Amino acid sequence: MSTSRPKEVFQEISPADFFYRNRDIAGFSNPSRAIYSAIRELTENSLDACEVHQIPPDIYVRLSVEGETPQLVSAPPEEGEEEEEAKPFPGVRTYTLRVADNGSGVPAEFIPSAFGQILYGSKYQMRQMRGTFGLGGKMAILYGQITTHRPAKITSSTGNDKIHVFEIMTDIQKNRPIILGSDKLENERGWHGTIVEFSIEGDYIRAMPKLLEYFKQTAMVTPYANVTFVDPDGRLYRFIRATTKMPQPPKEILPHPYGVDVETIRRIINVTDAEDMMDFLTTHFHRVGKSIAKRFLDATEIDPAENPTELKPQEIVSLVQAMKNFGGFLPPDASVLSPLGEDLLEAGIKKELNPEFIAVETRKPSAYSGFPFIVEAGIAYGGDVPRTGSILLFRFANRIPLLYDEASDVTYKVIHTTMNWNRYKVAQDTPLALVIHICSTKIPYKTVGKEFIADRPEVEKEILKAVREVSRKLASYLTRKESIERERKRIDVFSRYLPKIARFSTELAGRKKEPDINPLLRSLIRYAKETRKRPRLDEEEERDDNQ
Ligand code: ADP
Ligand code: MG
Repeated sequence: MSTSRPKEVFQEISPADFFYRNRDIAGFSNPSRAIYSAIRELTENSLDACEVHQIPPDIYVRLSVEGETPQLVSAPPEEGEEEEEAKPFPGVRTYTLRVADNGSGVPAEFIPSAFGQILYGSKYQMRQMRGTFGLGGKMAILYGQITTHRPAKITSSTGNDKIHVFEIMTDIQKNRPIILGSDKLENERGWHGTIVEFSIEGDYIRAMPKLLEYFKQTAMVTPYANVTFVDPDGRLYRFIRATTKMPQPPKEILPHPYGVDVETIRRIINVTDAEDMMDFLTTHFHRVGKSIAKRFLDATEIDPAENPTELKPQEIVSLVQAMKNFGGFLPPDASVLSPLGEDLLEAGIKKELNPEFIAVETRKPSAYSGFPFIVEAGIAYGGDVPRTGSILLFRFANRIPLLYDEASDVTYKVIHTTMNWNRYKVAQDTPLALVIHICSTKIPYKTVGKEFIADRPEVEKEILKAVREVSRKLASYLTRKESIERERKRIDVFSRYLPKIARFSTELAGRKKEPDINPLLRSLIRYAKETRKRPRLDEEEERDDNQ
């Protein structure tokens, strides 16, 4: 007797459907994360849209309550929270989220797809942007749709004579936008920017601490932005720009030979006009000029006259291997990166932390697997920096604050295991904050959630160097402060007792006139200034490295 087996069902799902089923991998795992991620993704789109055109951002975020949603299940616990008994969670509500910016705007023909089709966007080129996956903003809108079943309203203009308004939803199974309505308004004042408005279910009460931290840190790393947030209780949070100076906008670059794989080469071959290998290498790859291309071809025995479109599959594989093994390519050019720079980093830290002492450092460009990156570090001591019993760590990647999974991040490893803080006069209760910014055309994130950075040795080394550099400056400041303090005490003692000693010894000697003690005090102060020492850290650091 044969038992009937269940029949396998094969089907294809669209990208929208995939992310609908797996929304947690994009940061939408529960109502509180959903609110946090939605606001964050839209704010980042707005910042990107301003920065590409060097417009000092004015961003307005408003979250308002629409009504209460009865909840039958308990919200899953947040990271680090104890699992509670299942009970309806009172904070889950339907909100309206509205984010407005003065950025580039989106051309009308791209609006429906840019906001209603997953994996569609303008940031897939090799350049430094916050957005990378063509996903974030739309995940927020999609999450809104699946929790409230209402359309999103997008209003945008690139600054021409029309403002376009669209009401859209996403056909999740087909991954296509559905346009429910559209309108064109006269743009009399030449406004440019984008307003995104939609309904979303979430838990603001639980999201609040992280969200406010997100805004604060964003303000730190974008000191040229005005960001206003109005929360559901009507509370107003304003982060006002400290400067209108903006970093250079990122440029787009060609792939670097060390970073390509077979698929990249195959795609380039499909579109190339190059008729020989010389031409192919010099037009499509980053920092490959004629002489380097020639040396490469000589070293690999590829015929410079060969037509790239006629390369056989096996030849493409050998070409990629040869590229990886050839030592003669120049490192990627980091002028395409857009670090904050020391002035802006310092302005941002000062504005949000108001410390007693700051040191900042923008490292020279470096590269991992053909991707250029730059590490920037800032250290802030004293003043309003809180004493937390540990070092306060602020992590940023392409100007995005990273707020989750700190302990998995490479920066955490550097700061808590590699650094020997005793050398820098930093004790457990020193009020200290460290700010680390990594910018790259490709940040080595460990996950799609963009929360922490993998420990690539090249990146790790640069972080360590940057942290040491700023820590060294802190150490010499602290040493100076300590010795000034010590001398101040000493001189204090002298100036208290010297007059007495002078008086007694005058009496003892039977004289009338007391000696003048001021020259003696002055020479003590001068001596104190000259003997202030700088710490010798280089040798000690070297010893740490060799251990
Ligand atoms: P990503 O930012 O990863 O590309 P998103 O889904 O967040 O993906 O956004 C999709 C695209 O929509 C962006 O690449 C951009 O072209 C456009 N876009 C989104 N928001 C804005 C905005 N506020 N201003 C201008 N363009 C925007
Ligand atoms: Mg985005």
